[in-house]
Amino acid sequence: MKIIKVKNYEEMSEVAAKFIIDAVKENPKLNLGLATGGTPVGMYKLLVDDHKENNTSYENVKSFNLDEYIGLPQDHEQTYYTFMHENLFDHVNFKEENVYVPNGYSDNGEEKAKEFEQLLIDNPIDLQLLGLGTNGHIGFNEPGADFEGLTSIVDLSNETIEANARYFEGNEDLVPTTAISMGIGSILRAKKILLIVSGANKAEVIRDLVEGPVTNQLPGSILQNHNDVTIVVDEDAAKLLSK
Ligand code: PGA
Repeated sequence: MKIIKVKNYEEMSEVAAKFIIDAVKENPKLNLGLATGGTPVGMYKLLVDDHKENNTSYENVKSFNLDEYIGLPQDHEQTYYTFMHENLFDHVNFKEENVYVPNGYSDNGEEKAKEFEQLLIDNPIDLQLLGLGTNGHIGFNEPGADFEGLTSIVDLSNETIEANARYFEGNEDLVPTTAISMGIGSILRAKKILLIVSGANKAEVIRDLVEGPVTNQLPGSILQNHNDVTIVVDEDAAKLLSK
């Protein structure tokens, strides 16, 4: 794993945005895996600024999001479909038919999960962006997840529900309890992985991910076994790393 330590959230966002822009320029037909959450918001803003200033084109890029809540209508303000449109898709020239967010709005979630996995097999991901949960989750693969798991319906852990309540009026009861998520097996097929981590509340988990044993109790630790992972980590999150 290549670790890039940066000063703060702004610099993490800049380095990550450049990483993605360079990949899109090198391969205008990139299959790009995307993530939601607080961590990538600054990076998406920089992708939008760059598109406006430098015309970096997403016309032939396809994007595949890691996960989506189950139980919210698609146009709910907290779906990842809405998040992605507000933060990126509405501001750059992706074609709507080329952006894929797992379908958590259907009665037939299991079927939708299988279809999404097939989509990933048909369109292998060149570069996957990841954030990291304080409990070590990647996507919504919570502690205990199967390292070979594929896209499926998953239960959210209490820690994730608590962490995400900030987006639901601080009320844990409003946070969905299940989601549709790429599995760890799906994520590991990506040719390149970019993990972005910011803030003191991630210091322990990123230390354990990088320096601890590979264990499904910390799902992100499996990234130690992938051959092309870059981690961009800011000073607050990096403070417990031994080097
Ligand atoms: P965050 O979430 O970026 O909001 O901290 C990361 C994650 O849960 O994967």
